[in-house]
Amino acid sequence: RAKSLGRSRAATFDKTMHANVLDRMQIEMELRRVVDQLFLDGSSQLQLYYQPIVSLKTGKVAGFEALIRWMHPERGTISPLEFIPIAEEIGLIIPIGQWVIQEACQQLSRWQNELNIPDLSMSINVSSRQFLQADFLPMVQQILEYTGISPDCLKIEITESVLMETANTVLERLEYLRDLGVRLSLDDFGTGYSSLSYLQQFPINTLKVDRSFVNTLSEDQDQVVQAIVALTDGLAMDAVAEGIETKEQLAHLRFLGCEYGQGYFFSPPMCREQAEAMLIDKPHWPDPLSLLATAQTP
Ligand code: C2E
Ligand code: MG
Ligand code: MG
Ligand code: MG
Repeated sequence: RAKSLGRSRAATFDKTMHANVLDRMQIEMELRRVVDQLFLDGSSQLQLYYQPIVSLKTGKVAGFEALIRWMHPERGTISPLEFIPIAEEIGLIIPIGQWVIQEACQQLSRWQNELNIPDLSMSINVSSRQFLQADFLPMVQQILEYTGISPDCLKIEITESVLMETANTVLERLEYLRDLGVRLSLDDFGTGYSSLSYLQQFPINTLKVDRSFVNTLSEDQDQVVQAIVALTDGLAMDAVAEGIETKEQLAHLRFLGCEYGQGYFFSPPMCREQAEAMLIDKPHWPDPLSLLATAQTP
């Protein structure tokens, strides 16, 4: 009895494994097909969403972060957390990453020109494999020239793990980008294992305070955010708080002197049309001071 139970369990396990492997192969195959279409017509299943990054001092939209989505006809919207790691593994991150930069820079150029917002910025996530590929730098340079956007409006987001790759190459590449005038942000800051000395060594402009520290922010638990903001002040960087969901979090971040923020409190990531409508109708949040006042009186 125990034996047959064991066997049927093993069989179930095998079946699940099999399903997962098939599923994974299916996803890979579909992703390859989607990428083949990517540069051919404009009707790809990959889309960029845009989340506003807001000045916590003025309430003004300083820029957007471009966030990729896979609009799958049967599976629905697939999160980048699911398919970007696969794309990294099988090398598709290279064409996908190039498309993201191209698309986001073109969009930024249109918004800057057509809506007359020349200082609007675009933040773009770049994974380590993409950052380290041989022609990453010429590709960025070419897209900057082609779209004509000012390099200091482009913000490249990397994570601490990139800094820990072969440090020499990384430093050279970061310095090259800095010399071009491109801005560099460290994403999910505080969750990685990079040494603080890297911050002095590498030409980083912005630290993005990881959402986990914003989530847990309270009167008696704000030391980490406080320290990160102090660090950015001391090193002449900016701090961007990720994942602001409540008025209270916003008020506390303002109190701590954090310059910028993004999160569902302001807006979730939006499709191009929605983001554009927001830029036209409401290019800044009403009055951060009044938000602060409301937050302090429960
Ligand atoms: P990330 O760069 O740290 O992006 C922030 C993530 O937090 C986004 O998830 C965003 O939708 C989510 N978020 C924003 N505000 C809030 C909030 O108030 N509450 C909560 N709970 N979440 C919030 P998303 O879009 O699913 O992206 C996940 C990750 O996938 C990104 O993390 C980034 O690492 C990666 N990613 C997204 N787009 C790209 C891309 O084009 N290229 C590469 N290489 N990676 C990308
Ligand atoms: Mg990011
Ligand atoms: Mg992040
Ligand atoms: Mg500062």
